[in-house]
Amino acid sequence: MTPPTDSPAIAPRSTARPWITCVVPAYNEAESIAEFLCGLCAHLAGLSERFEVLVVDDGSIDATSQQVIAQPGPIRLLTLSRNFGKEAAISAGLEEADGEVVVIIDADFQHPFPVIDEFIEHWQQGYDMVYAVRRERNTDSKLRRQLSRMFYQIMSRMSSVRIPEDAGDFRLLDRKVVHALRRVPESNRFMKGLYSWVGFRSIGISFTIEERRSSSSKFNFLKLLDLATTGLTSFSNLPLRLWVGVGSLISLLSIFYAIYILMETLIFGNPLAGWATLVVAVTFLGGVQLLSIGILGEYLARIFNEVKRRPNYIIAAKHGFPNE
Ligand code: UDP
Ligand code: MG
Repeated sequence: MTPPTDSPAIAPRSTARPWITCVVPAYNEAESIAEFLCGLCAHLAGLSERFEVLVVDDGSIDATSQQVIAQPGPIRLLTLSRNFGKEAAISAGLEEADGEVVVIIDADFQHPFPVIDEFIEHWQQGYDMVYAVRRERNTDSKLRRQLSRMFYQIMSRMSSVRIPEDAGDFRLLDRKVVHALRRVPESNRFMKGLYSWVGFRSIGISFTIEERRSSSSKFNFLKLLDLATTGLTSFSNLPLRLWVGVGSLISLLSIFYAIYILMETLIFGNPLAGWATLVVAVTFLGGVQLLSIGILGEYLARIFNEVKRRPNYIIAAKHGFPNE
């Protein structure tokens, strides 16, 4: 089943077999990357006369780069100077990708190659972006799935940018989408949000995600939490604005309470009660204030990061590029 399209008017493209660049972010994938590239190149050769694979080694500490260089085929390699994270690795790849279409795919065999055929078919129909939607996420733990669902629910309520649930980085981008993404300079990069933010005619197709071929996921709980916070803060200002509402409500309630106390004192006198109320009010308000300052701090830290204007990644070495 194909989920409904995000945008209506499309016109079929004439190019039958496009020039494909595959961007592959890889972090410590030495164990299986040779086999992966072999399979990927064989598959792409069946799809187009012109293709290339652009591997971005995201600061691996194993032999990922050496494995890639030893591999035959139209393969280029960018090695980042340290581990900058998957979002940065993808951005580096998109910066250098020359293809008419760019396919982003993980290096761990979780994204089946035949889905690329469907990507190309939809691109030929006129779509500028085709994203793969996981049919079920059995490869993730139950907790990760629940948290992820929660994240998408919060995100859809808080942000005006519609981010399709269970769609990841596995997708095809037309060259013009790649050019649009290159114009986004922000350092708090949440790619899933940026894909939606740039717009264009997009469609989701469902696929069944495979098991990871070797080792385990590179994303631990803290990394995912950080990614989720980046997503929320860079696509919604609601956490900041919320406190105007909370503050107003508390002020309003306290006015009513003041009137109530005044009346009580006037009518029944003042026996100096209310110690418990006072403690509850002080601690509750203290909590609310710290929480809101914390949220302010979260945004402030991200603004600080942004104004430093550091590059999102540093390239340590290139392989297979004409001028290197
Ligand atoms: N990856 C990366 N940098 C990182 C973490 C991961 O380039 O800091 C790559 C990794 O090599 C793989 C892809 O991103 O090709 C997805 O990573 P992983 O399979 O660990 O994530 P999951 O499938 O659990 O989302
Ligand atoms: Mg994976």
